[in-house]
Formats: sequence, structure tokens, C-alpha cells
Amino acid sequence: MIRLHRRIIFFSLVFMFFMTSPLVTQAKEETKEINEADLRQALYQKTEALTQVPWYYLAAMDQYERNIRKTNDDDRITGIQISFEKWYGVLPPGPSHNEREELVTLFGGIGKDGNGDGIADPTDDEDVLYTFAMEIQQKIAENNSMESAITAYYEREKATTIITQIAKLFSHYQTVDLSERAFPIPKWNNYSYRSTWGDTRGYGGRRIHEGTDIFAGYGTPVRSTSYGVVEIKGWNRFGGWRIGIRDMYSIYHYYAHLNSFADGIEEGSIVEPGDVIGSVGASGYGPEGTSGKFPPHLHYGMYKDNGKNEWAYDPYPYLKRWERQR
Ligand SMILES: [Zn+2]
Repeated sequence: MIRLHRRIIFFSLVFMFFMTSPLVTQAKEETKEINEADLRQALYQKTEALTQVPWYYLAAMDQYERNIRKTNDDDRITGIQISFEKWYGVLPPGPSHNEREELVTLFGGIGKDGNGDGIADPTDDEDVLYTFAMEIQQKIAENNSMESAITAYYEREKATTIITQIAKLFSHYQTVDLSERAFPIPKWNNYSYRSTWGDTRGYGGRRIHEGTDIFAGYGTPVRSTSYGVVEIKGWNRFGGWRIGIRDMYSIYHYYAHLNSFADGIEEGSIVEPGDVIGSVGASGYGPEGTSGKFPPHLHYGMYKDNGKNEWAYDPYPYLKRWERQR
């Protein structure tokens, strides 16, 4: 009897230890992330059913807005934001945002009721997404295509390019959870790299080094670090044979000085983390075909679109993390 008691106490303690350990906390955080992605996808699909705007376009536009700014509102799971002036028209918004849809419409606001409670609430995900989808639907009717509707809504060509790419990824994989990453050089290959962010360059005037150089032998496979769509493939005076891939976070991954491109990799191709896209070379720093002006290496750069322009940031800490994860 005493032994059984001891056992129960022992197992209770083990159980309590695991429940409070950082591993479990981390797992809980991940579950929360996944559940939120599922929740958002369900909301996009519901809005598609109501408005006929494909869910992956709604998801891509929402993702684009989430990429531009962090949502401050903790109560919301989507990032689409519609200004109060657009939402309410000339109706002064009350502090509790509980105006009826008819009243908002009467005062020239675009705000609509998406969840069926009669209230058009600009802080409610369902109302915002429904209102947004109705706006897009109207823009499609006016402009005759999804692409020109997106351009008309965001008043930016680049937004259309990025949103179309994200929509392509979401549609292809039927999920909005494409955050997995990979190190660009496969295991078992010899390579070396160090932090060279901001070093000055000899070629092309006054430029700083915007990326990380990973030195490896000619022909070493180069892999995509992310899910993404090939945005650019070809020759560039500085980068030589290079590939640019856009991911769902509006990040542009730049792979330069390649020796060759992998078969089937074209502009518009969808890639996954770990997919071979080409091989290490020493191309660049001159007209098309120039090679061997420096030791072979992969130049890897990351650029983030912030809704107005693109800025480079240091990929080194990310490479270190992805390398450990293998
Ligand atoms: Zn470089």
C-alpha cells in the first residue's frame, strides 16, 4: 500500500515537472500559433463563401498588411485595417464601436456587419474581413481583374506583385502556415562563412556588403531557405547568375554568383525550404558570363518590403539559427 502511494506521488511529481518545464511551455506556444493560423483560414473561407472573393487572396492581402505593420490590437487575429474615416464616413465613431450597419451606411461609411449581429464594428475580425472583401469585390467589378483590383485598393504595383505571389503559395499548399526554413547549403558539404555585414566592397563604387558570403566549392548545391515564388532569375552585373525568391512574409531572398540553375526553376516557380535551386559558382562582377574574379561562394541576401520600399537586413543570425536546426 505504501509502495503504491509512493508511486502515485512520484508520478505526480514527474507529471508536474513536465507540465511546468520550458519544453511544454514552448509546445503550448506553438499550438497557439497553429490554432491561430487555422482560425484565420476558417475566417477567410467563411468570407469567401459570403463574397466569392477567393480565400487565398483574402489571406494574402491580410498577410501583406501583417507584414507591413505589427497589429497592436491583441484581440484581433487578422491584420487588415480600415481607417475610421472610411469605416464611419461622417458619423462620429463612439468609443464602444457598436453602431448599427444601416446608420454607418447612411453616413457614407463602408463599414459592414459580417457576423450577423447588426453592428458594423471596425475592431471585429469578421466585420472587417467582410467589409474588406466587399470593397475588393467592387474593385474587381470596376477593374475587371483581381490584379488591377489589388493595385486600385493599395495604389501600389509592388503590392500586387507580392500579394499575387503570396496568394499563389497559399492556394498551392492550401494553408497559411508556411514558416519553415532551411540552411541554403546541404549537410555534409564543406563550407564556411562569417559575419560580413556592412563590409566595404571594391567593385561598383561606394556600396556596402548587404548579405552573407558562404564559401564552398564550385557546384555545391544551393537550396531555397524558405517557401516562396521565384521572382527573378538571370544575369545581374554584380550578382552574376542569380535568383530572387519572395516568401509569404514579403521577404526577398537573394542568391548570387551561381554556377548553374537547377532544372525546372523558372520565374513563377514555387519552391520549398530545402529545394535545390542552383549551385555555387563565382559568376558576376562584369558582363554576362564573367566568372572567376573571386573565390566561389554563395552570396545570400535578405530584403524586407515594408509597404513603401525594400531594405536589406543582416541574414547572418538567421543562417546561424537554420544551421543549428538541421
Ligand atoms: Zn557577398
